[in-house]
Amino acid sequence: MNESDIRVRYAPSPTGYPHVGNIRTALFNWLYAKHSGGSFIVRIEDTDQSRSVEGAIENILESLQWLGIDWDEGPIVGGDFGPYLQSERLNIYQEAVDKLIEQGDAYYCICSPDKLASMRKEQQKLGKPPGYDRLCRSAGHSRKDKSGLNRVVRFATPIEGPPVTTDDLIRGKVNVELPVIDDFVILKSDGFPTYHLANVVDDHHMQISHVMRAEEWLPSTPRHLLLYKALGFDPPIFAHLPMILGSDRAKLSKRHGATTLLEYRDEGYLPEAMLNFLVLLGWSLDDKTEVIPLTELIENFSLSRIGKSPAIFDITKLEWMNGIYIRSMPVEQLAEHIKGYNYHQKKDVSTSLLDNDYIKQIVELVQDRVRKVSSEEIWSLTSFLLVDDLNYSIDLNPKGLGKSETASAIRSVISELESTKDFNVSTLEPSLRELAKELNLSTRHLFGAIRLAVTGSNATPPLFETMVVIGRDRVIKRLHVALAILEEMGSTK
Ligand code: GLU
Repeated sequence: MNESDIRVRYAPSPTGYPHVGNIRTALFNWLYAKHSGGSFIVRIEDTDQSRSVEGAIENILESLQWLGIDWDEGPIVGGDFGPYLQSERLNIYQEAVDKLIEQGDAYYCICSPDKLASMRKEQQKLGKPPGYDRLCRSAGHSRKDKSGLNRVVRFATPIEGPPVTTDDLIRGKVNVELPVIDDFVILKSDGFPTYHLANVVDDHHMQISHVMRAEEWLPSTPRHLLLYKALGFDPPIFAHLPMILGSDRAKLSKRHGATTLLEYRDEGYLPEAMLNFLVLLGWSLDDKTEVIPLTELIENFSLSRIGKSPAIFDITKLEWMNGIYIRSMPVEQLAEHIKGYNYHQKKDVSTSLLDNDYIKQIVELVQDRVRKVSSEEIWSLTSFLLVDDLNYSIDLNPKGLGKSETASAIRSVISELESTKDFNVSTLEPSLRELAKELNLSTRHLFGAIRLAVTGSNATPPLFETMVVIGRDRVIKRLHVALAILEEMGSTK
C-alpha cells in the first residue's frame, strides 16, 4: 500500500461529550494520517437513536477543532464517500442486509425482548454462555410481522469452522472460537443497523485502510471479520489502542480529574499542552522525551511505538505539561489571553492600568508562575498589580519581626525610596540590601516587610521586578498605607 493510500477514521457515537479517551483515538488516527500523507475521516456513528445526546456532535467537532485536529472528509467539509452521518446512510446498510439474507447469512427473528430475557436467565442457570439460541434461524420468517412492522435481522454465524483470528498490529493474533459468537443482531426493527453492521459496511465503502480504535472494541472484531467475509469485503488492518487508567490503575473516571475535553479548555489548559499530553497516553517517541512539538510528533508518529499496556492518566503531569507550554509561549500571546478576561467586572480594578504595555509587563512578571490560562488563575496572580488600593487580608509584619519594628523598617524604606532617583532593579536591590545592613535587619525580614506592604501577599514574583512594574509612586503610596495600618495596630496593642 502506498502511504498516501492510508485512510483512517475517527468514528464517535454522539452518546455524550467526548472525554480524553475518545479524543486520544482521534488524535492517533489523525497523526497517522498526517505522518503518512493519507486521509483522516470523521464519521458520526449515530445509529443508536435512543442514546443520542443533544449537542454531542457539535461538542465532538469543537473538541477536535480546539486541538487543531482537522479532517479531510466528514461533517461540515463533506467528501467523496459521504454522507458521514450513519443515520443518513440507511439505504446502504439495507442493501448489505438484503444481500446477506439472500445468501442465507442472515435471517429475520421474531423473538420478543421478554423471550430473550428468559432465555438469558435459563442460560445463566445452566452456566452456559449468554447468547441468542438461534431459535428463528431456520424458521424462514418474513421481513414484516402481521401488523406490517419490520423484524429484527440477525447474522447467521457459521456453526462450524476454524476460529476467527484478529491479526492486530498492537496485540498480535487473537483467536476466538466460533461457538463463542452468537447470532448477533445486524438490523433493528426501527430500520437502523447495529454498530457492527454499520461499522463494517462504512469502513469498506469509505475505503478505510486501518482501523485504530479503543481496546474495548477488540471483542467485537471477530463479529466484524465474519461480516467482512460474508459480504465479500477485504477487512482493514486493525490496531486496538491501549486502555487509559487512572493513577490508581482503576478505570478512568471523574475522580482522577478526567472530564470532557472542553472542560480542560475552560479550566485553562492550552491545546498544545493537551495534545502533547494525550499523545503520550499509549505512544512514546523514545521512552524518555516528553515535550514534543507537533511538527516532531507528525514526523515521528508510528504505529510500532504504540504500547500494549494500559496508559496512566496523571493529571499532575498534564498540569506540568501545561506549565511548560505556557512558559514557551510568546509574551504577546499570553497577554492576549489575559486581555480577553473581563477585568472590568472585577471590583477595584483600575481600568487605567489595563493598557497593552502594562499588561505585557505583568505577563513578563508572572509567566513563570502561571499554571493555567484561566481568569481565576491569572487574577489570583496579578490582582495586586491591577488594583489601585490593596485590601490587606494578611499580617503586615513578617514572621519573627514585631509590628513596631516592621513599622520603623517601612518608614526607613519610604525615605530611602523617596530620596533615590532611579527606580529600577539594578539600583533597588543594592540600595535595599544596604538599608537592611544599616537597620541591622536580615534581608529576609526587610524584604518580607516590603513584599507584604507592596503586594499584600507573601508569595509573589521576584520582589524588585514586581516593584518596578508597580511603579515608584504606587509603591510609596502602598508603603504609606501599610505603615498607617501598622502604626494604628501598634498603638492599640
Ligand atoms: N462508534 C464507536 C465508538 O464510539 C466506534 C468504534 C470504532 O471505531 O469502530 O467508539
